[in-house]
Amino acid sequence: MAIERTFSIIKPDAVERGLIAEILKMITDSGLKIKGMKMMRMDRAKAEGFYAVHKERPFFGELVDYMISGPVVVSCLEGENAIENYRKLMGATNPAQAEEGTIRAAYGMSIQNNACHGSDGPDTARTEVAYFFNDDELVG
Ligand code: ATP
Ligand code: MG
Repeated sequence: MAIERTFSIIKPDAVERGLIAEILKMITDSGLKIKGMKMMRMDRAKAEGFYAVHKERPFFGELVDYMISGPVVVSCLEGENAIENYRKLMGATNPAQAEEGTIRAAYGMSIQNNACHGSDGPDTARTEVAYFFNDDELVG
């Protein structure tokens, strides 16, 4: 299995509730390594660009409002099969449908306020990491 990189966001609802450490512990306990990490607050243009693939969806405006409502923690994670393994660790988009032991089952509040983001494939992983990190910030 190849070593991959993926991109993660601890979303505003989880940061607001003081869950950064708990979620990072689940991530590192799963074997994923943190290559780069920072806390930041996205502006509207940054969030709209990040979720551009969803711009025609009815929830797009609310999703962007939510993602800029407070600080987030963005990270680049690395490990074997990292993209799929991190998606499994997050659980289903809707926390009510997420399997026990996943981040969203433990900490998600609703289909929108679902605690975390993870890239859904190799192309998005590459694009998303580059959207938030310069090469010299991937030091881990
Ligand atoms: P993410 O891309 O954040 O990792 P995902 O890939 O599981 O999540 P997507 O379908 O890409 O899910 O949706 C992106 C985000 O948009 C979701 O994580 C959630 O915050 C929000 N979202 C998705 N579906 C809905 C919906 N029906 N109503 C409100 N918000 C939604
Ligand atoms: Mg997605």
